[in-house]
Amino acid sequence: MGLEVYQRKRDFRRTPEPKGKVLKRNLRRFVVQEHHAEKLHFDFRLEMGGVLKSWSIPRGPSLDPAEKRLAVPTEDHPVEYLKFEGHIPEGNYGAGEHMKWDGGAYEVVGERSALEQFEAGRLKFRLQGEKLRGEFSLVRMGHWKGQWLLIKSRDEFAAPGWELQLRRPEDERGAEWLREQGGKKQKRAAAAAEHKAVRRVAPPENVETLPAKKVFARGKLSGNVNAEIDGAVVALTNLDKLYWPDEGYTKGDLVRYYYEIAPHLSPYLRGRPLIMKRYPTGIGGKSFHQHDVNEAPEFVQTAAIDVEEGREVDYIVGGDRATLVYMANLGAIERHPWHSRVEHLDSPDWVVFDLDPENVDFNIVCDVALSAREILKGVGLESYAKTSGSRGLHVYVPIDAGHGYAEAARFAELVAGRIVGDNPEVATVERSLKKRKSARIYIDHMQNARGKSVVAPYSVRPRPGAPVSAPLTWDEVRRKKIRPQDFTIKNILRRLGQKGELFAPVLGGGQTLAGALRELKSR
Ligand code: MN
Repeated sequence: MGLEVYQRKRDFRRTPEPKGKVLKRNLRRFVVQEHHAEKLHFDFRLEMGGVLKSWSIPRGPSLDPAEKRLAVPTEDHPVEYLKFEGHIPEGNYGAGEHMKWDGGAYEVVGERSALEQFEAGRLKFRLQGEKLRGEFSLVRMGHWKGQWLLIKSRDEFAAPGWELQLRRPEDERGAEWLREQGGKKQKRAAAAAEHKAVRRVAPPENVETLPAKKVFARGKLSGNVNAEIDGAVVALTNLDKLYWPDEGYTKGDLVRYYYEIAPHLSPYLRGRPLIMKRYPTGIGGKSFHQHDVNEAPEFVQTAAIDVEEGREVDYIVGGDRATLVYMANLGAIERHPWHSRVEHLDSPDWVVFDLDPENVDFNIVCDVALSAREILKGVGLESYAKTSGSRGLHVYVPIDAGHGYAEAARFAELVAGRIVGDNPEVATVERSLKKRKSARIYIDHMQNARGKSVVAPYSVRPRPGAPVSAPLTWDEVRRKKIRPQDFTIKNILRRLGQKGELFAPVLGGGQTLAGALRELKSR
């Protein structure tokens, strides 16, 4: 950390900018400057490590969470620059008018220091400026080396539709910049207006339509048939296609499973956007993710959901019986619901910890899940476990809708930290496979974000044996007599008959995070 680059770029006999030095103290201040240089832009600077970490933001910051702003990192500036305003003469680096647009104090969000977060490429902070207030993140994009995004969090200071006001709009560069922004706005509006509606398709007429009772009473499903399910006509096609070649399970078997499990599975999907991963040729073939639905039958509920800067996606919502069967017929093996429902999209009603083991015995996964349960109990929260259907376990904490995603994520991060603290030999929150030791259980708390998902209970997994995600009693976790592969599309209904709806409390809410967050932070 130093100012060598900053000083090398400037001739201090010709520019009014401060030469500056690295300071020993940090006052956690920030400044945003409006810089009418050759190209008007905004400079965003955060005080840390005795200097100002700096980004150049072509379109300026925004209070609209949907407006992610490109932030290009620039050289560290001296802390004296917090106050700098003035005219940098022609021929000098950054020539043009330089003025303060906003500034004030900031605080870091999270346990890690500002510098640590900066190094990790993920900074979260709260600004106390005149114009910019509340939580923001600066995120380095992995796929676009060196570039960052500045994003406003969805909190009480968020202002959808907010527009930046220039301090000097009349100046030549200011006027040009405003024209440009206007053009971009029109383009975005046009793109949004162009958003296609879901095309509604009818079932094929040359295929026999039968009541579901008849279709599903016939033994092995075969060929093509239209099934009338709860008043909806669902086209079933190529039912003989082998989906699990080793077991001989066909697409028809998958369709039948979702038809039969629907009364148990639907409650966990109701009102939730669903992400589809389709395996059109079975578990051994190519698969692809599908969030956006282009066409669907009339009976499938969809919702246009804003996912980023002016971009809407038509999601399938909920999973009534006909919809579950329809999705199975598309080759969607898993069911991936959001953590929130359309009536409160920004507010999850459960928090999930995904315990994902790598070369670790399942018994140890059970021990870590039990430890997670103890930690949660210690802060007054009940939790529920299910197999992932793959190798690991999921631990769910039902919560009342009302917490934002940021709060749920913060809670999940703190709990994950405690789980790792209590199980240092086996558990990790390290995302990078490379940095993980070979035998580890990854505590994935990062999935608790808007638009992310975890497989639903009773969802099938595209793995040998057609396993399903199975709710467990904590006693079963403790006795360690179960394995994820024990529960499949062939036996889960029998288990449901014996054990009942073990996961029902997950839908009950009734828990809030406020107290738990206070306790977790105080330790
Ligand atoms: Mn600049």
